[in-house]
Amino acid sequence: MDRNTIQKILIGLFISACIFIGLRAFNVIGFNDNLPATEVSANVSSSRMTYGRFLEYLEMGWIKQVDLYDNSRNAIVQASSPELGNRSQSIRVEIPVGASQLIQKLKEYNIDFDAHPIPRKDVFLTIASNLLLPLIFIAGLLFFFQNSDNFSQNSGSSPMNLGKSPARFDQRPDTGISFDDIAGIDEAKAEFEEIVSFLKEPERYTLVGAKIPKGVLLVGPPGTGKTLLAKAIANEANVPFYSVAGSEFVEMFIGIGAARIRDLFKKASENTPCIVFIDEIDAVGRERGAGIGGGNDEREQTLNQLLTEMDGFKENKGVIVVGATNRVDILDAALLRPGRFDRQITVGLPDRLGRIGILKVHARNKPFDENVSLVQLANRTPGFSGADLANLLNESAILATRYKKKTITKNEVNEAADRIIGGIAGATMEDTKNKKLIAYHEVGHAIVGSVLENHDDVEKVTLIPRGGAKGLTWFAPEEDQTLVSRSQLLARIITTLGGRVAEKVVFGDPEITTGASNDLQQVTNIARQMVTRYGMSSIGPLALEDNNNEQMFLGGEYNEAIADRIDVEVCKIVNHCEQIATKIVLDNRVIIDLIVEKLLDAETIHGDEFRDLVKEYTILPTKK
Ligand code: ADP
Ligand code: ZN
Repeated sequence: MDRNTIQKILIGLFISACIFIGLRAFNVIGFNDNLPATEVSANVSSSRMTYGRFLEYLEMGWIKQVDLYDNSRNAIVQASSPELGNRSQSIRVEIPVGASQLIQKLKEYNIDFDAHPIPRKDVFLTIASNLLLPLIFIAGLLFFFQNSDNFSQNSGSSPMNLGKSPARFDQRPDTGISFDDIAGIDEAKAEFEEIVSFLKEPERYTLVGAKIPKGVLLVGPPGTGKTLLAKAIANEANVPFYSVAGSEFVEMFIGIGAARIRDLFKKASENTPCIVFIDEIDAVGRERGAGIGGGNDEREQTLNQLLTEMDGFKENKGVIVVGATNRVDILDAALLRPGRFDRQITVGLPDRLGRIGILKVHARNKPFDENVSLVQLANRTPGFSGADLANLLNESAILATRYKKKTITKNEVNEAADRIIGGIAGATMEDTKNKKLIAYHEVGHAIVGSVLENHDDVEKVTLIPRGGAKGLTWFAPEEDQTLVSRSQLLARIITTLGGRVAEKVVFGDPEITTGASNDLQQVTNIARQMVTRYGMSSIGPLALEDNNNEQMFLGGEYNEAIADRIDVEVCKIVNHCEQIATKIVLDNRVIIDLIVEKLLDAETIHGDEFRDLVKEYTILPTKK
């Protein structure tokens, strides 16, 4: 018997016990009371009498007959007395322990008595009836467990399937995804094409002694196509495909997650060659002993089981495990060791060319107007994942339908982009003082950003609220900045402060509003990262925090003196930037007033128009 079966039996026993106790509580199953239920209830109704009274009756000669039960602990007596209307009645008497002279007395008074022993046959019947029912339950449950494979392949969540893997399984997967449907992640694709060719013609590899990886870890942010890749290999290689999410192995009961892993790999090894795809593998593979409040036994057991299973097939016989995560930093090191997930493939956010490719894939079956340029759209969307881009095109198709158009035009695409980046547009504000203040705030951002050499160009300024923002200034995003210079970071801070600074300069200190809180958060974040991550302050080139703002100074935490210095440096940067922003706003006050007038009227000013207006008053830098 393996652990799995024992587990099933234990669960079966447990459930049977529960049912049994439940039935007992409702008196469905009776333990034999040794007082023949029929006799007692038929004659006695509810008559009882104390032992003392029974002795009185005895002395008075009112007792006719006594039947003793249960080793003389209970008796049914036939009595007739004036109290009872001189009619003979059956009365139940409990006889206290130690009333051993009772029989003597009965003889003395010459009472007809009989002692009824517990009939042997009844004992057997009793025991049998008490055991039979639970046995039937257990047998039934076991039967159900044994057969559950046949009719609940995919119902991992059913309580009868606790130890079963919840993996969805496709024998011959028609995932409908081919490598042509994936763009922008060519490196990962190439890697996978190789795996497909191994699955198709393993001899080619084994002949030259090449070993194919057992585990491939896809690392990248959500929506970048990791699942898509796994589906594509299964489809292209035409091999069985198991797909499961790591979170489905995280269970409350110790051992169940591990049992599921075991079950998954058992099934997989019966169907080689095949692919096992584990999404969100970090849910299982988190570093051991790192859970909140110490270790987490269940998760550790599950992880250990996964490690064991991956070690199990020494030579890869055709089970390829593909894991996906966006948090490789929290994975247990043991998972990444050779022989387990020996290959790591980074699936990053697509660059400009990648975005063009992905847009083309998703534009295939959509009628776009000629004026729509996917290249321009790709330029506008740095930081978008493949899923975001797919969503963007889908949104624009929905908008086109809403406007009853036959093709999707530039308008729908732009509106969809605005929605996804900024949120859904709301109604414009009434002409109040607030609206004017917001106009100054936005124009403040726009002017400061335009004047600074190292800042992106203004794309548009609008007073149409979107998402949580009352107004918005959009800047044409710089192409995929993996390297950002110090002066670019400072320009971002100065421009972001431009809104609040304009409020302050125009309306005065008492009138500034809470509207800038988001800006201030961003400013503080950038400034803090300059100090703690990028070594861009007088503290020097030290990494004091990691990208989750966790302290990592010299492998531990930094002391208070350092913490104080960080705060001082952050304040210095922000104050310096505020001064520059203030100067720019003061220097450009005339044009700011003019543009605000125009904006209150038009509600949206586009980038080119904006620059034309500004150019009449000041010289704009040529942007890099
Ligand atoms: P992940 O598993 O990385 O979170 P998915 O593979 O589930 O992301 O991607 C979600 C959707 O986004 C896909 O179904 C597809 O429509 C789209 N998508 C993501 N990346 C790409 C890509 N590289 N090429 C084409 N479409 C993509
Ligand atoms: Zn702002």
